[in-house]
Amino acid sequence: ATPTSIMVGTGRAAEIGVLFRRGEALQSLRDAAVVAVDKTGTLTKGRPELTDLNPAPGFEADEVLALVAAVEARSEHPVAEAIAEAARHRGLSLGEAENFEAVPGYGVAAIVAGRRVEVGADRYMARLGHDVAAFAEAAVRLGDEGKTPLYAAVDGQLAAAIAVADPVKETTPAAVEALHRLGLKVAMVTGDNRRTADAIARRLGIDEVVAEVLPDGKVAVVERLKDGGRRKVAFVGDGINDAPALAAADVGLAVGTGTDIAIESADVVLMSGDLRGVPNAIALSQATMRNIR
Ligand code: ADP
Ligand code: MG
Repeated sequence: ATPTSIMVGTGRAAEIGVLFRRGEALQSLRDAAVVAVDKTGTLTKGRPELTDLNPAPGFEADEVLALVAAVEARSEHPVAEAIAEAARHRGLSLGEAENFEAVPGYGVAAIVAGRRVEVGADRYMARLGHDVAAFAEAAVRLGDEGKTPLYAAVDGQLAAAIAVADPVKETTPAAVEALHRLGLKVAMVTGDNRRTADAIARRLGIDEVVAEVLPDGKVAVVERLKDGGRRKVAFVGDGINDAPALAAADVGLAVGTGTDIAIESADVVLMSGDLRGVPNAIALSQATMRNIR
């Protein structure tokens, strides 16, 4: 590609809200065969809401919610905001959380009013040695509805099954369709529950799902998709834990509403949260690069 054609191409991209931080990315984007996309905050709004809270025998819903919300008040995970909002909505007063501990990709724990409160995914409960079998059926149903099942334990006892749901952005279905029309495969990469991820992917017609990926595992997913360099991979994400994958991909595209570190690690920035910027930029790269060959 000539410098002039790259300038013209990236200039046109800027007009539609797609910022190229590296001009060479225009060429890599044209050659992309698969677009791997982070789920939370990229395909979805990243603002989940609490939808379910089923207390275990011997516990009350508001009691568990207040304890869990006190812990989540210390966390910055989107799930934490959903739980805090639900507690506010019910007018619950929250205790102080001490000895707060976050285990990335698993969950959070703290001491609230002298009680040890733990909240997180099933793998967090498994790691802590808490049996979640009593809620297994409910978790399957919630996952199949596209909700994320979580669990709370109080003083070592399973206290509730909780679910949060993060709505898909209005523009995401059209973005996935447009990528398919351009002949690309779309893969979802997420730390979320497998059934939840599958349910959302099914709705969107996404081709491949890699779920329950630990925060440091997204690079390995990108490397696998690259298939030893035989396939060009674009990665789209917004979070701190997307930064290494954005750098490892042939082209990294950050959502402009995302974290600074994701934006700094990306080749391309989508100025709004609208994923249609991805197929638009690919179509533009194909048109620009075709002209000059
Ligand atoms: P994602 O943002 O894709 O869900 P993460 O790696 O941040 O991926 O988290 C993976 C899973 O760990 C979450 O889906 C959730 O089940 C659990 N988790 C992480 N942080 C928290 C938290 N603060 N509260 C409850 N659960 C959490
Ligand atoms: Mg995200």
